[in-house]
Amino acid sequence: MTESEKPLVIAIDGPAASGKSTLAELIAAQLGFFFFDTGVMYRAATLAALRALGDVEDEESVTRLTENSCVDVQPPSCGDGRVMDVLLNGEDVTWQIRSPEVEQHVSKVSAYAGVRKALTDQQRQIGLRGNMVMAGRDIG
Ligand code: C5P
Repeated sequence: MTESEKPLVIAIDGPAASGKSTLAELIAAQLGFFFFDTGVMYRAATLAALRALGDVEDEESVTRLTENSCVDVQPPSCGDGRVMDVLLNGEDVTWQIRSPEVEQHVSKVSAYAGVRKALTDQQRQIGLRGNMVMAGRDIG
């Protein structure tokens, strides 16, 4: 792959509530790039765990489930306020991942090393599509 063929991905790193998503969304809109907020990956993994296991306490089970799940993001398929579609094993979970239950458990799931590894691998695959602005902590 030559330099000019490399997929162009702009990574915006930063702690929680630092405004990185807002900035990334603005830059993506300016450039006509896809805005990929990586927090949705952890939210989707949390939703999968809550559905399959009922809770997120067992690190090994949550990790195995995440490794066997496919989380994907796509440009928004409809104009209901979403900035992207979030797909969990092909199912549109864009709004389900914003539920209070997911909100309550996502930080625990995102602290599991195996979950982070599985989702980082999937994020890299998505990044290969290029023309993308990615936002999230330690994604640089
Ligand atoms: O940004 P958002 O609130 O959607 O992120 C949900 C959670 O996912 C964060 O609270 C954090 O625990 C986790 N996260 C992460 N690494 C990222 C993005 C999000 O650990 N790159």
